[in-house]
Amino acid sequence: MNPEPVFAALPLAAVEAMTGEDRVPGFVVHLPVAIADLDEALRFAYTLARSLAMIAGVEPAGTTVSAEDAQHLRHWVFCDRIMPDRRRCAHRADHDGPCSAPNERAPSRPG
Ligand SMILES: [Zn+2]
Repeated sequence: MNPEPVFAALPLAAVEAMTGEDRVPGFVVHLPVAIADLDEALRFAYTLARSLAMIAGVEPAGTTVSAEDAQHLRHWVFCDRIMPDRRRCAHRADHDGPCSAPNERAPSRPG
């Protein structure tokens, strides 16, 4: 499972959700990890992002992974779809089935 790098333009709803008047401009933290395999790095990022989800201002669903020497080629960790209430889908980027918001219990998936 190697998801395609992120190249596609975001849907209009996603842009509006990220640039709304109530959105506070912030920063992105890049955290190098010594993992050689993309799938393993995606799993690590998924677990790490979920562990930080309760911290105010952290946006786990926006987590991406890239090779250290190709940081312009980002792989989404979570599904990038914006829900009607402007939250992002909490499932992994390549999930099966319908999207669901973070407070809706996502089915667990091995791996
Ligand atoms: Zn989804």
